[in-house]
This record gives sequence, C-alpha cells and structure tokens, in this order.
Amino acid sequence: MERIPVKEQFPEDVDSRVFNLYEKKEKIYIRAQEGLFQTIRLFTGWPLLLGYFLAPWLQIEGRQAIFFDLPERQFHILWLTLWPQDFVLLMWTLAIAAFALFFVTTLWGRVWCGYTCPQTVWTAVFSWAEQITEGERHQRINLDQTPSFLSRNGRNRAGWNKLWRRSLKHLMWIGFAALTGITFVGYFYGIRHLVSDALAWQLPLTATAWSVFFTLATYINAGWMREQVCIYMCPYARFQSAMFDKNTLIISYDPSRGEQRGARKRGSDYQAQGLGDCIDCTLCVQVCPTGIDIRNGLQYECIGCAHCIDACDSIMEKMNYPKGLISYTTENKLAGGTWTWKRPKLIGYGTALLILAALFMLVLYLRTPLSLDVIRDRGQLYQEVAGGRIENVYTLKIINMSDSTLHYELQTEGLPNPTLLPDVPIEVPAREMSEHVVRIQVDPDQLRDFNTEFEFILSTADEATGKRLRTEAESRFFGPRPLGSGR
Ligand code: SF4
Ligand code: SF4
Repeated sequence: MERIPVKEQFPEDVDSRVFNLYEKKEKIYIRAQEGLFQTIRLFTGWPLLLGYFLAPWLQIEGRQAIFFDLPERQFHILWLTLWPQDFVLLMWTLAIAAFALFFVTTLWGRVWCGYTCPQTVWTAVFSWAEQITEGERHQRINLDQTPSFLSRNGRNRAGWNKLWRRSLKHLMWIGFAALTGITFVGYFYGIRHLVSDALAWQLPLTATAWSVFFTLATYINAGWMREQVCIYMCPYARFQSAMFDKNTLIISYDPSRGEQRGARKRGSDYQAQGLGDCIDCTLCVQVCPTGIDIRNGLQYECIGCAHCIDACDSIMEKMNYPKGLISYTTENKLAGGTWTWKRPKLIGYGTALLILAALFMLVLYLRTPLSLDVIRDRGQLYQEVAGGRIENVYTLKIINMSDSTLHYELQTEGLPNPTLLPDVPIEVPAREMSEHVVRIQVDPDQLRDFNTEFEFILSTADEATGKRLRTEAESRFFGPRPLGSGR
C-alpha cells in the first residue's frame, strides 16, 4: 500500500494540524472589578482567611483548640477529642460534607467555587498583590511586553521598573505562601511550638520540609496556576454538572435581551438599529478569572464568581439600561418558567443530608469516651499458684478519652468465682492511654473446659457528665484439660 506523506495529506499548515496537540495557553490578565457580588465575596473571604490563620492560636483547656496530634493519635477539635477509635465519626463527617456540597450545588450552583473555595480565596489575595505591585490590567500587559532587565536591551528605566515590581510581587506572594504553609503545619505540630522552634533554629527536618512543601504548593497554585487548577485539576468542576438541573442557580447572559450585540453611541436609539442591550465592550471577558466569554452560554470553566455580573451591571448603569443582562438565574427562568424546590435531586440530597446529620449526632451522643484492649500474656498459657488455683495474666490497654482523670472498676463475666488482682480501681489520666497488668485466678475444678471465653468489663461514672461509662472486651482463660474431657 502506498504511504502518503503527512505533508501531502494536510497540505496547508501541517505543523499546527498534526504536531500541536495542545493549545497554547494564553495568559489571562484579570481586570479588577468592584460591585455588589465582589463586596459579598469580601465578606465570605475575609472570615475564612482570618479563621484559617487565627484558629491554631486559640487555646481551649490549656491546649491548641484545633490540633491534629498525629504522634499521640488524637484530633482535638474545640472541646472534642477524637481518637483512632473514632474513625467512623470522620467517615460520617466526610459523608455529611459531601452531601452538603451536593445539596448546595443543586440549589445554588457553584457558590462554593466562587465565594469560599480556598483556591478562589487565595488567588484573590495573590491577584490583589499583583495589582498593587504591577498595576492595573493594561499596565501589567505593558510590563509583560517590556524587555527583562536581565536582557541586553532591557537595561534601562523600564527594565529596572519591571525588575523591582516583579521582585516585590514575588516577595509578597512568597511571604503570604509561607504564612499559609507554616500555619497549615501548625495545625499538626502545634503553632506555638512551631514558631518558637523555628525562631530557635530547632525545627525538625520533617516539619521544615512540610512547611516548605505547603509554601511552594500555595505559591504555585495561587500565584502561577490559578484558573488552571479550577479548569484542569479540580475534580469537582468535572462532576458538578451532574448535580445541576433546570432550576439550579447559574450565572447566565440573557441573549434574548443582549443580541444583536454591537457598539453604539450613548443615548442613541439602538433598537431602531436592530441592536440589543450588549454593547460588546468585552468587559465581562476581561474581568473573568478563567478567561471565558459567558455570552457563549454555560461553560464548565465558569467558577460562579460573579465578576461578569458586576462588570456588566456597571456598563448597564453607564448606558442607562436596566441591570441584569448577565445575572444569577436558572435555565427554567430563562425559558420563561418559574423556580421550584420540588425537584428529585434536591429532595434526595436534602433528605440524605438530614438523615446523615441526625445519625451523626446520635453516634456522637452515644459515643463512649473509653476504649479497652486486652492482650493475653504470650509467655505461658497458665500457671498454678498457691492453693492449687490457676492463674492467667493479661495486659489491659485503657484509653481515657474524656477530659478528666477517671477511676475504673474492672470486673469479669463468664468465669466461675474469679479473683482479680490487683483488686483496686484503675486510674487513667485525662486523654491518655495506659497499660495495666492484671492477673485472674480460678479454681480449676470449676472450669468446664481448658479454654474458657469470658469478658472483661470496665466501668466508671464520668465525673463531668455523671453518665455511666462502660466498655467490654472479650478474652480467653486457659487451664489444665479437665480429666476425662477426651480432648
Ligand atoms: S459586559 Fe455586558 S455589555 Fe459588555 S460585552 Fe459583556 S455582556 Fe455585553
Ligand atoms: S463567566 Fe467568568 S467572571 Fe463570570 S462567573 Fe463565570 S468565571 Fe466568573
């Protein structure tokens, strides 16, 4: 078979058709925009930023209020301390968070992305730093076109201006990224220890490495990658459309009002010229952090930040046209219908969320802040002690998950007339695990088998709540084979 050269198959522009598999990324120069929704974003972004940076400094009962203590395997969240045994609670929390996100997305679309997602909030801070160091959109475009100070033709005033502005921007970015990374590690290391160890140059290598890693991750994600994270890396952007229905809140351009778009003189009778309300100023595109044109319809790149609404409203105001050419709406409303809550997805997610939240509260209420593990002495099965009794030795691992030191009573169930030694209450300090060796002695004549299954029962009254705490753990008692057992 004759092979046709690629050049002949695609005679014109063969390079771009065959070899450029990936579209070249165009840099997005976001234009700053003020307006109602940007003010709302300030009120959602600032509390989140302050909460993130200040929360690890809060102290409750002499410890960090939110502290994920991995070496001690304890998660402190305000007044609650979770242990590995509480893993199920973490699963509940994740399930509740997932269904809350599904519910909110079905109802209000991508409000999470637009107003509260850390990528959006941190990118907004980085964009602000860029704007105060490098100037407005057109100044940043000019700066990019200025030759670098390091190049031969850049050693002039403009090149110097570019160098110091860029350097200051990256210094601000790295400073904020470092603050973010150190705070993040502070949730796991203890922020006060982290800062004092760092100041004394005694920070362990692991903590240093993680701080540097999170600093770099923040710097790259919020400074360099920005919308690329939302468009290409975030899985939520990909599957959120599955939660959308015709009544989900979306940001949309109204083509029936805006088209035919086109320039016109202010105050002119544009309708007589066959024009709609869109003056084709492209401001809505210039302010868009993902660089899309909302006039092309709903696109998965849209993070619902409402920059385009504020931008278009400002133009409508200047033109003396009614606001809302780009607005929060629903597909149903755009088609002339009315909004309704009676939607299978919304009701389904809402019901699942309520059930999960109710079960979580129940599990939390019934949770016993006490755990018991029993390990039999592996050295010998049993030993005979004074009086011909048989003794087995056990190590009990007791975790007191409450916030006060407790004294526990130990009993057994399933053994004939056992003697427990030592026969004193077991003291375990608050939020600690302790090991206790106990011995059990039994008269062998009363044992029906050489291997008897029984239960340890540990109980106490919680001094803080007055609630009776009790937990059980199974174990086995070994003795000599009873005569004539045949086994
Ligand atoms: S900002 Fe409004 S008027 Fe300007 S191009 Fe966008 S939709 Fe049209
Ligand atoms: S189109 Fe752009 S500016 Fe408008 S909401 Fe979506 S991401 Fe924001």
